[in-house]
Amino acid sequence: MPLPEPDPLTRGEKAKITRFRKDLLTWFADKGRNLPWRRPCASDFERICVEVLLQRTRAETVARAYPVFFGRFTGWPDLAAASIEELEEHFKPIGLWNRRARSMRALAEYAAARGGQFPSDPVELAKAPAVGQYVQNAILLFQHGEARPLLDVNMARVIERFVRPRRLADIRHDPWLQAAAHWLVKGEQAREVNWAALDFGSVVCSARAPACASCPVSTRCQSKSLN
Ligand code: SF4
Repeated sequence: MPLPEPDPLTRGEKAKITRFRKDLLTWFADKGRNLPWRRPCASDFERICVEVLLQRTRAETVARAYPVFFGRFTGWPDLAAASIEELEEHFKPIGLWNRRARSMRALAEYAAARGGQFPSDPVELAKAPAVGQYVQNAILLFQHGEARPLLDVNMARVIERFVRPRRLADIRHDPWLQAAAHWLVKGEQAREVNWAALDFGSVVCSARAPACASCPVSTRCQSKSLN
């Protein structure tokens, strides 16, 4: 029988991240950004599309394109039937339009052929076009209700500053960072914790100018004197 994998997180790290989760939710309730895809009326379709677009793009930029894009495309079949040229026009204001048009339409064709339902099995889901680790987690989070982290460079930065740095360059393969991100979103409020961590990384613990002096978690942060 194979030996179980050692837990990458120490007990102390788990306790610290659990407290951080609570603090992030408290901060988010007061200071979180009001983005259209977070409203209760937003569909899985909208939230999954948005996560595809949010890769390498600021949330504010995607929010500006949101009303026109989702006014024109109301579900996967609309998107699957669109021409690449039309999709490129929609994506020009948010950048990377050529690549995005192709990957989004491939994803839409896949989803439309399955009535909008993606597999809940991660191995099957990984076979879908344009589904890397980040989009896979977004689909499992928003469509299947799993506690999955939207782990990008922003969430990674927040966790690493608050707890400790990862060892591997690629965030997708660092066992400690992956375990820390999964622990952070553990529980019934996984969506809100994800949104809170992403907003906190944008508004407070930003890449270039972290607001350590006014940060609500500075007393427990191992990088508190960055600014
Ligand atoms: S104290 Fe500074 S580095 Fe630490 S979480 Fe707050 S803003 Fe980020």
